[in-house]
Amino acid sequence: MQINSDLQFIKYLKGAGGDTLKKCYQCATCSVVCPLSSDQKPFPRKEMIWAQWGLKDKLVADPDVFLCHQCGDCTAYCPRGAKPGDVLGAIRAYAYTYYGFPSGLAKLASSSSNLPILIGLPAAIILVLWYISGGMHLPEGTIDFGKFFGEWHFHYLSKTVFFIDAIMLPAAGLALFSAYKGVSALWAKMAAGLETKPGFRPSCPQFAKEFLWPAVQEIISHKRFNECGVNQDRVRGHKPLMLAFIGLLIVTTYGFIRKDLLGIFNPSLHGPIPLWDPIKILANVSAIALIYGILLLWGKRSNDESVSGSQGTFYDWFLIYEIAVVGISGLLSELTRLAHIGTLAYGFYFIHLVAIMMLFLYMPYTKFAHLVYRTFAMAFERYRQSDYVTKRA
Ligand code: SF4
Ligand code: SF4
Repeated sequence: MQINSDLQFIKYLKGAGGDTLKKCYQCATCSVVCPLSSDQKPFPRKEMIWAQWGLKDKLVADPDVFLCHQCGDCTAYCPRGAKPGDVLGAIRAYAYTYYGFPSGLAKLASSSSNLPILIGLPAAIILVLWYISGGMHLPEGTIDFGKFFGEWHFHYLSKTVFFIDAIMLPAAGLALFSAYKGVSALWAKMAAGLETKPGFRPSCPQFAKEFLWPAVQEIISHKRFNECGVNQDRVRGHKPLMLAFIGLLIVTTYGFIRKDLLGIFNPSLHGPIPLWDPIKILANVSAIALIYGILLLWGKRSNDESVSGSQGTFYDWFLIYEIAVVGISGLLSELTRLAHIGTLAYGFYFIHLVAIMMLFLYMPYTKFAHLVYRTFAMAFERYRQSDYVTKRA
């Protein structure tokens, strides 16, 4: 058998947190202690040898890489200090760039040396649109973020809603399209070794009901996180964070329907939502949960790194910083608005817009991508064990 090692891939893994991978001597302790590994397809021992050999193509097509929740149990028990959990994290970081579309943006988002561009690009787009909208003037009178981009006499669509849509919809659209392309490519690779009876495949509704929805339910309940031993307290930060994102998704969808769609027929809906409106309460509770969750994860990661003496990776920290800035800038803009400090309120609001655009724009290429890749890997795990599949690789 001829093995084609990808030396660049090994070099990448070593630089992305997997510098210990060569220490592995294949004892398989990690596969035994991993609470998420199955008896039929144990991991991460096999991924360690594939990584040592530089078998990039096998690893980016391996669903087990995405099923790992980075709990660290394997790392804690590895007798050689090979840190298999960190190696799998480095492989996932590589895979998000590998599947990312467009590839130029995916590569840009994978390195800390590009941070000035990663921040500068959305900041410049928002500044240019702010300038086009009215010369970057701050609204006068009562602080109202709904007038950040100025006002016009067209009653059916507010000027700020128009400009926010012009910024966020293309960014969100690109992220969704990229995630779709990436997940489709991953699925094709994962399913390459499977065989089904001709004409015996699930329809889209069947796939959603039998495989995707159970995976989503498992993710929301944090069932697998709860199985982790060493790092089980990570769930205390991850769960509020995930619920906060669900809350903010509901708020954003409501705001879009209310202001962008219904507001066309009823212009009075363009104004700010009252503080005691249930949606406003949900928005504020979600913002607090977001900040609480991310600060817990931030503290935990810092503590783990100081205990183990390991160096944090850009892949791990970029998402933490991004979410922290979204939450803190949103909260500060709201507090300074209530305190009637206009310049600060609009300044924080601008930072908030930049951070949200970054979250959308870089979602498919950063750690945030685990949201979609892990969900589909979990759906695939059920699919490959189902009766639809007649031959498993
Ligand atoms: S990573 Fe560690 S525990 Fe796993 S097989 Fe290698 S040496 Fe053993
Ligand atoms: S980090 Fe946790 S879930 Fe991932 S392979 Fe190790 S033990 Fe399993």
